[in-house]
Amino acid sequence: MNAQTNYPPAPEEVQFKPTVLVIGGGASGIVSAVKAAEAGLSVVLLEKTAELGGKVAQISSLYQTDLSPSQWLNDKIKSLQSNDKVTIYTNGTLEKAKGQAGNFTVTLNVAGKKEEMVVGAIVVATGMELSTKMPVPEGAEAGRFMSQMELEKKMADFTGDSKGFVFVVKEDNFLYGMANALKNALKLKNAGHNVYLFYDEMKISEEKMEKIYHQARKEGVYFVRGTQNLKIGQKDDQLTVTTVDPLLPVKLAKELMITSDYLIYNEDLVAGADTEKLAETLRVTRGPGGFFQEDNYHLEPVYSFRPGIYFVGACRMPDFVHNVQEQAGSAVSAIYQLSTADVKSLMDQKPLIDVKKCVYCLTCYRSCPRNAIELLYGIEEAAWNGAPFVHPYACQACGSCAAECPNRAISFPGYTDEDMNKQFQGIGGKA
Ligand code: SF4
Ligand code: SF4
Repeated sequence: MNAQTNYPPAPEEVQFKPTVLVIGGGASGIVSAVKAAEAGLSVVLLEKTAELGGKVAQISSLYQTDLSPSQWLNDKIKSLQSNDKVTIYTNGTLEKAKGQAGNFTVTLNVAGKKEEMVVGAIVVATGMELSTKMPVPEGAEAGRFMSQMELEKKMADFTGDSKGFVFVVKEDNFLYGMANALKNALKLKNAGHNVYLFYDEMKISEEKMEKIYHQARKEGVYFVRGTQNLKIGQKDDQLTVTTVDPLLPVKLAKELMITSDYLIYNEDLVAGADTEKLAETLRVTRGPGGFFQEDNYHLEPVYSFRPGIYFVGACRMPDFVHNVQEQAGSAVSAIYQLSTADVKSLMDQKPLIDVKKCVYCLTCYRSCPRNAIELLYGIEEAAWNGAPFVHPYACQACGSCAAECPNRAISFPGYTDEDMNKQFQGIGGKA
């Protein structure tokens, strides 16, 4: 609670602090920080590990671009490091956050030291995690089984003799898994290797993915439908993958056996382990699979239900690196609009609380779906000394608080009892 003598606070007391806290130093966080700095905002970039870069720093190539991931990242990191409006903290986590859009007071833990600061907005860009579950069949060498991420890290080793690779992309591996498999299958094929790709559904509904699929077919990657009946074993120093074509009638179906050196499978893409704790700290909810995606995905893809807090990248749901640029741009644009908004006219459009009528029951505080109400005390004219304050940046004017207030202490400008009575009388009613 904050002490406040004049109520409501004057517009100049409700200023937007033009600093953005970006949580997560992977590709999404770095791109968000770059965009925020370009918009003239100060940036605090907080990464929990000792290095910036995240998973993109570990992969060999990016989907849809010929840029080297490490070069792409290094250019961006250098631009952040040379910008004196950007502060980078590694080995840091967010411990506490209170307040509203424009004035969040956050407590960071940076390498064991606590630091408190005020920021106007928070961009969550904590990414996702990969969970590997492919069981190695009995008798097969574990070193011949690789996840997509393990393949990315070893890609540079496969430049010599021609080897055999089998990709297995299961139905539940989402579009992202298929895009990675196609990208890497084509890369290995172009390096002279023998490549098979087993799949259940060919999901290619991402930009340029169909082109890569056709190119992979043209270059000689073999596509085989069906992953359900695969039998995987090892004969001498080769893996064997046996299947029956599910599209052929039973009488005609014959077993197809492929020998290979490596089998590549897709990881499950899961929400980061710290997502739940971060959601509690920021007082936001989570969506399917525990990812941060609780608001309308199509209309407001980067918005949380709390103005001033935004989600960018794979912390929302598994996504491609090339989409992160647009998401970071949307988040920064929303922050910029808030930071330049006219506070007085914002306040004029939000619910009014009559502190003389307010009995400080906190019903509005509890029922606000946007957590937009702050509790103030020390207000002389208030019946109970304290009163809720509708924060102009955070309130979305949904009206729930006005509907719930048991003492009719909340009204909307233009819709007060007096306004409604006047309108009623204007159409011939009797008040
Ligand atoms: S109008 Fe809606 S968003 Fe605004 S304070 Fe009331 S309940 Fe919260
Ligand atoms: S619901 Fe009404 S009476 Fe209760 S705290 Fe809010 S404004 Fe005051």
